[in-house]
Amino acid sequence: MSGVNDIRATFLDYFAKAGHAVVPSSPLVPRNDPTLMFANSGMVQFKNLFTGIEKRDYVRATTAQKCVRAGGKHNDLDNVGYTARHHTFFEMLGNFSFGDYFKDRAIELAWNLVTKEFGLDRSKLLVTVYSEDDEAYELWRKIAGLSDRRIIRISTSDNFWQMGDTGPCGPCSEIFYDHGDHIWGGPPGSPEADGDRFIEIWNLVFMQYEQFQGGGRVALPKPSIDTGMGLERIAAVLQGVHDNYDIDLFKTLIRASVELTGRPADDAQRASHRVIADHLRATSFLISDGVLPSNEGRGYVLRRIMRRAMRHAHLLGAREPLLWRLVPTLVAEMGRAYPELVRAEALITETLKLEETRFRRTLERGLGLLDEATNGMSTGDMLDGETAFKLYDTYGFPLDLTQDALRQRGIHVNIDGFQDAMARQKAEARANWAGSGEAASAAIWFGLKEKVGPTEFLGYDTETAEAVV
Ligand code: ATP
Ligand code: MG
Ligand code: MG
Ligand code: MG
Repeated sequence: MSGVNDIRATFLDYFAKAGHAVVPSSPLVPRNDPTLMFANSGMVQFKNLFTGIEKRDYVRATTAQKCVRAGGKHNDLDNVGYTARHHTFFEMLGNFSFGDYFKDRAIELAWNLVTKEFGLDRSKLLVTVYSEDDEAYELWRKIAGLSDRRIIRISTSDNFWQMGDTGPCGPCSEIFYDHGDHIWGGPPGSPEADGDRFIEIWNLVFMQYEQFQGGGRVALPKPSIDTGMGLERIAAVLQGVHDNYDIDLFKTLIRASVELTGRPADDAQRASHRVIADHLRATSFLISDGVLPSNEGRGYVLRRIMRRAMRHAHLLGAREPLLWRLVPTLVAEMGRAYPELVRAEALITETLKLEETRFRRTLERGLGLLDEATNGMSTGDMLDGETAFKLYDTYGFPLDLTQDALRQRGIHVNIDGFQDAMARQKAEARANWAGSGEAASAAIWFGLKEKVGPTEFLGYDTETAEAVV
C-alpha cells in the first residue's frame, strides 16, 4: 500500500520523465489574481501561460497544488463530513501543456499512469467526454480500448471548461472509478450520479478555443492541456478504501482526534471527527500562507472554517481548546512535503489557541440559545432570521455554522429574515448617529465600520466575501 507521500512522488516523477518541469505549488493566496479568493486548482498559477501573456522556459509542467474550495465559485464546505470525496483543503496533482502536446498525448499519459504505473483495474474505470467532442470519444476508444458503454457523453457545463466569461475554454473528460455496487450511486449523467459509488478521480481539460466578448469563439492556434487529479481520491482507490477519510493521512489525523477527545469515530461522531481533520488542514495551510482569522474577506472564510471545527470539537465533548493540540500530528504527516507548515507551526498553534479560547466564551451560550429557539422543531421547520442574526451578531456564529448545527435535524434558516435583521440593525445604528448631530463623523465611522466589519464581516455569503477582497 502506498501512502499519500509516495503517490504524490510517483505522479510527479512520472511526468518529469515525460519531459515536464516539476513546479512547486503556488501559495493558496493567488498572487496574480485579485478576483480569486484561494487557489482552487492547479492551473491558477499558470493562467498567464495559457493566455500567452507570459512565457517561461518550459512548455510542459507538473505540480501538486494546494487547493482550498471554501468560497466563491467552488465551495465544498457544506460537503465536508457528508460525502466521501470532498475536502475544503486538498492537493490537486496535475500535468500541463502550454501549446505543446494536446488531446491524444494527454489521454495516453493519463491512461498509462492510472492503468500501468498505478495498476488500476481497467474494468472499474469509465470516462466522460463533452457531448460534441467526437475527437476525444474516438481517442478514448483507440488509446484506452474503452467500449462505448464506458465512454459517456455529457452535454452540461461539467464537461465544458471556461477560464472566465472570455479567454481560453474547451471540452473536458473526467475519469471515474467505480467503487462497487455496495455503494449507492450511478454513473455520470445518470439520475443517481450524485451518489458516491462512481467517483471522479481525474479531470482533463482540452483548451482549444478562445472565447470573445459578445459570443464569438475561435480555435486556438496552439491548444493547451490542463489536468487535475485529487491526491486524496486516488489514494483512496490505491489503498483499497472507498472513502477519502479512510486513507493513511486522514486515519492518522482522526486517530489523534479520537485520542484527544476519547470519543470513537462512529455514528454521529464520525462526521465531527472528519470535519475536524479536514478543517485542521485548511486552517493550518491557510495560516502558513499568510491568512489570519478576521472579519472580512479571506480571513473571514478562515474564521468560519475554524469556528465550524470548534463546534464539532464541542460536540465531541471537548471543553478546552482542542484543535491546536492536533497541529503536531499534521506537521509530522505533511511537513516534509510542505516545509512552510513546519516554519509556521508556532503561528498556527498560537492562532488556533487564541481563536478557540475566544470563541469558547460565546459558543456554549450561543448553542444554548439555539437549542431554546429550536426546541420542539422538526424536519422541514425554519429558524427565524432574527435568532440567526443574534447568534451571528452577539455570539459570533457565522451563518453557515448555524446552518451546519441544524442540518442533522433538517431545520433550515430563514436567510431573508437574517438579511433583513442585519439591514435593520445597520439602519438603526445609522439613524442613531444621524440623530446625535454628528453626521460628518458618522459618515466616516460607518465607512470604516463597513470596511472593517462591526462584529463580523457580512461575508457569510461567499460571493459577497469574494467581492470585498
Ligand atoms: P466533483 O464533481 O467530485 O465535485 P469537480 O469536477 O468539482 O469534482 P474538478 O474541478 O474537476 O473537480 O477538480 C479536479 C479534481 O480535483 C477532481 O477530479 C477531484 O479528483 C479533485 N477534487 C475536486 N474537488 C475536490 C474536493 N473538494 N476535495 C478533494 N478533491 C477534490
Ligand atoms: Mg466539485
Ligand atoms: Mg465533476
Ligand atoms: Mg471535474
